[in-house]
Amino acid sequence: MNSVSASAGSASARQGDKPMSRYAEFYRRSVDEPEGFWSEQARLIDWKTPPQLILDASRPPFARWFVGGTTNLCHNAVDRHLASRGEQRALIFVSTETGVEKSYSFKELHAEVQRVAASLMELGVGKGDRVLIYMPMIPEAAFAMLACARIGAIHCVVFGGFASGSLASRIEDATPKVIVSADAGSRGNKILAYKPLLDEAIRLSSHKPDAVLLFDRELAPMELSEGRDHLASVLLEKHRDAEVPCTWLDATDISYTIYTSGTTGKPKGVQRDTGGYAVALAASMQHIFDGRAGETYFSTSDIGWVVGHSYIVYGPLIAGMATIMYEGLPTQGIDQQPDGGIWWRLVEKYKVTVMFSAPTAVRVLKKQDPALLKKYDLSSLRALFLAGEPLDEPTGRWISEGLGVPIIDNYWQTESGWPILTVANGVERTPSKFGSPGVPMYGFKVKILHESTGEELAGPDEKGVVVIEGPTPPGFMQTVWRDDERFVNTYWKSVPGKLVYSTFDWGIRDADGYFYILGRTDDVINVAGHRLGTREIEESISGHANVAEVAVVGVADALKGQVALAFVVAKDGAAVADEQAALQLEGEIMKRVSDDLGALARPARVRFVTALPKTRSGKLLRRAIQAVCEQRDPGDLTTIDDPSTLQQIKNLF
Ligand code: AMP
Repeated sequence: MNSVSASAGSASARQGDKPMSRYAEFYRRSVDEPEGFWSEQARLIDWKTPPQLILDASRPPFARWFVGGTTNLCHNAVDRHLASRGEQRALIFVSTETGVEKSYSFKELHAEVQRVAASLMELGVGKGDRVLIYMPMIPEAAFAMLACARIGAIHCVVFGGFASGSLASRIEDATPKVIVSADAGSRGNKILAYKPLLDEAIRLSSHKPDAVLLFDRELAPMELSEGRDHLASVLLEKHRDAEVPCTWLDATDISYTIYTSGTTGKPKGVQRDTGGYAVALAASMQHIFDGRAGETYFSTSDIGWVVGHSYIVYGPLIAGMATIMYEGLPTQGIDQQPDGGIWWRLVEKYKVTVMFSAPTAVRVLKKQDPALLKKYDLSSLRALFLAGEPLDEPTGRWISEGLGVPIIDNYWQTESGWPILTVANGVERTPSKFGSPGVPMYGFKVKILHESTGEELAGPDEKGVVVIEGPTPPGFMQTVWRDDERFVNTYWKSVPGKLVYSTFDWGIRDADGYFYILGRTDDVINVAGHRLGTREIEESISGHANVAEVAVVGVADALKGQVALAFVVAKDGAAVADEQAALQLEGEIMKRVSDDLGALARPARVRFVTALPKTRSGKLLRRAIQAVCEQRDPGDLTTIDDPSTLQQIKNLF
């Protein structure tokens, strides 16, 4: 048995006679002696008061980590580095949209964060209050997040590409006291004005914030609402020299919520703690990312996603690394001219040692001249981490050969906060296998269970649902914001007879203990590494006056991984009788989804049918539709009410 199989999970997978590999032993301790293991990891961060109890798992499936300890995320990300590396770069901002390139040292970051913290306090924000951040990828977004952490406010960052409908439902659920936003974002030189979307979202939401703090980039005009809207420039100037001490928080106090899609139309607020998250990130920076203080980390994600929270803002800063915040496409230079080598230019310039991106971005780069990968000195780079969607072998091989550094696939979710499956090269160099994100990370008891019997599938290559046994490790979601019941019922009760956390992903494990992820078990789709609920898109489409019924499915796409396709039954058949009319309605539906949810959710195509494939009990057969769209066998159709409905869809392809 090789070293990896020993690390893969259950005690039964452990070796008999041979000595355990370093990672296998590391992993074993993390699950067999979690208190001892995590109390050691807890030393990677600063505590005001050390924890009294490492793990309280007395109320499963809830896990409370580092009980009695007090700490602060902003202190660990910023203040504690001031003495040793105050002048060192902390945040590097590069916008190929506006041509701005600017660095902030830890000292400067400290000052900026305190200015925003003081401004938020003036607007009435205190410990436990929610601050919703709807911002483009600019440094002020990170300042605002860190400012919230500093004063104990709970931030709730909403991806800037979401439109007013998505934003409104999040405002409604998070009930923020203050919203932080900007005049506009920009993508591919196209300005996206945020303020009108925000105004509309506030109008749609029954909850109204007390105040809105607005950063003006002078990209789009802003109409200010008297008494509610405040220009950040005015408040920040007033608090230029602000000194705002960190508020010490209990380890179990909430640091933030972040919304993610599920099987219902209503996004879930994933809630995270403070101490457990800080420890989990500090540990992952060392054991998984192998990033060291003084070096530069470059994640191409967005602060609106969990990767942005963990590995643009908090993780690298906690580790004392400089972090690059990048606004723009991977194919445009700082002079706004096409440049497919911009990322590698930045790697060379800032001597990036650890880089994090998504397969979809690599697939975009694959269309560029491969010579661009050889043009720059990339000798500083130790590894490229890719996550968010399955990494297909051709893409993995292309980038691996081009860069000549290890490509490390890592599998995780908004809910987990940090990688569940990958290789921990900081503990021990472990080979990767193409197509597999790797083995379970320390603290994660990952199993594969039969979806209906709940029986463990321990044999190699047996397909089942990937689940995690509790107690979940530090950094994992605490609960669903304000809805413990939804947390338990949604995540922990989906496998019959067992209280286990379901990832809602299918998977297998090979004989060496490497896992392979085979797609979602639910109606969540993954477009360009972003998770979308088909129900949310269906709800938006159903709102069109001429839509009687709709089914949205995710279909394989060479560039984006998956795209959404919508099948619509029109109320007025005549409206789609000819091609011109159908095109018009398709355009209207697409616009509706863009306006409601954002361009990301817009279906790639809308097709009109006279009826949708359903079971006799009226359940939509989404999986069969998806199979037909992908020219696969739709499987068992004994329950289908009217087979001609599926034939209609087949005929469209
Ligand atoms: P999100 O919460 O948006 O990060 O989406 C999490 C989902 O993305 C997972 O449940 C998987 O379906 C998918 N995913 C993330 N990383 C990977 C990966 N490395 N390989 C395969 N699927 C992944």
